[in-house]
Amino acid sequence: MTATLAIIGAGPKAVAVAAKAAVLRGMGVPAPEVLTVERSAVAANWQPGGGWTDGNHRLGTGPEKDVGFPYRSALVPRRNAELDEQMMRYSWQSYLVGTGQFADWIDRGRPAPPHRTWARYLGWVADQVGMRVLRGEVTGIGIDGDGWALSTDSEDGPGTVLADAIMATGPGQAERSILPGNPRVLSIAQFWHRAAAHERIGAERVAVIGGGETAAAILNELFAHRVSTITVIAPQVTLFTRGEGFFENTLFSDPTHWAGLTLAERRDAIARTDRGVFSARVQDALLADDRIRHLRGRVAHAVARDDQIRLTLHSDRAGESLETVHGFDLVIDGSGADTLWFTELFTQDALDLIELSLGGPMTGERLQESIGYDLSVGQLSPKLFLPNLSGLNQGPGFPNLSCLGLLSDRVLGAELTRPDPLPRRTNEYQPIR
Ligand SMILES: Cc1cc2nc3c(=O)[nH]c(=O)nc-3n(C[C@H](O)[C@H](O)[C@H](O)COP(=O)(O)OP(=O)(O)OC[C@H]3O[C@@H](n4cnc5c(N)ncnc54)[C@H](O)[C@@H]3O)c2cc1C
Repeated sequence: MTATLAIIGAGPKAVAVAAKAAVLRGMGVPAPEVLTVERSAVAANWQPGGGWTDGNHRLGTGPEKDVGFPYRSALVPRRNAELDEQMMRYSWQSYLVGTGQFADWIDRGRPAPPHRTWARYLGWVADQVGMRVLRGEVTGIGIDGDGWALSTDSEDGPGTVLADAIMATGPGQAERSILPGNPRVLSIAQFWHRAAAHERIGAERVAVIGGGETAAAILNELFAHRVSTITVIAPQVTLFTRGEGFFENTLFSDPTHWAGLTLAERRDAIARTDRGVFSARVQDALLADDRIRHLRGRVAHAVARDDQIRLTLHSDRAGESLETVHGFDLVIDGSGADTLWFTELFTQDALDLIELSLGGPMTGERLQESIGYDLSVGQLSPKLFLPNLSGLNQGPGFPNLSCLGLLSDRVLGAELTRPDPLPRRTNEYQPIR
């Protein structure tokens, strides 16, 4: 019996897993049926409507870090070279060759593609491998016998998807805002909606909350608007630059030695290279623009008063907690990415099972520390794959685009069903592609 792996969200991780499963089946190697549930479209978060970009901003990592990268499969004994060769058919380069853009890209000096082009590449792979995508928003995750039952909502009404294992992807909701409904406070999605519509933003004092890559992309766009000062509010001591040298990059593409590091060493490496750091490209732009300054602290709350948004910030100075209030004409809440977004979807029975396997209440820390080699929550059956929370235990490249080929190996190499699973109903659905 073929196991079903349901993936929430048709982004690069889902495309990478679906592509490798299709290649394995083509080679006559058993692989689970991969069914993706997507509320919008394949690669939606890399297009203007997805809320995370206007589509014109450029990919930070090289596009050669595509769905098969680093092409070092270790899944099928004696046939891994063949597997990698087959996966090369879905590489960034094959996409460019297949769509007549390869020579042009080379002659232009291999530029980082805009997000919308990256989305087209992912859509091309999805088409090539016949990726099965069910259109619907996952609204609940419950237990059904030995497996999962996903409740879905779509234009056709509510539905249920049964699966032996699930994988949650994506950064959560871009619509989150510290002061919803106030026109002087923009969520990430509202900001990008305006940028995509070529609406000029004009304001004296602008605050951008967040010191990560999402906020960095917002800053990159803001430079082109009519604003007098831009204050970046983040808890770090300063706005650190991401280490992008060979040794840092290697940690992302090849986590072989990651498990040998202590927890403290791993946290330190992630802090230097991943969390709350700006890429060197954005830092260069920041340096060149004297409108930018950094304010250290965490935003505790926001109120609207006298045509301004007043933000209360908490920060630690020499061990003492400090509270300060600052006024802005416009606030962009760039802190939206939430790796735990899916946790509110669990029904009580699913939550009970997860907490039993974690040995306590479900927290981000417990989940991260429980992630096993196959990127799933250790000891939990049915399997719950959480690549976005796998950085700490398995390597910093798994939550992002750094080693999608390795990610698909780890997930597809896992045993998805128990030796004697209960007989299950099969899914009936209308795929959108
Ligand atoms: C603007 C931006 C730029 C980035 N650039 C880089 C980069 O250059 N390099 C890099 O390594 N990393 C980058 N990242 C970080 C990270 O790599 C990506 O966010 C990550 O790769 C996303 O891949 P994914 O497959 O997890 O999900 P996503 O591509 O985010 O896809 C998630 C999908 O889930 C869908 N969805 C959400 N909720 C539901 C639901 N309830 N039901 C059904 N579907 C749902 C969404 O519509 C979306 O299509 C970037 C992130 C952002 C936001």
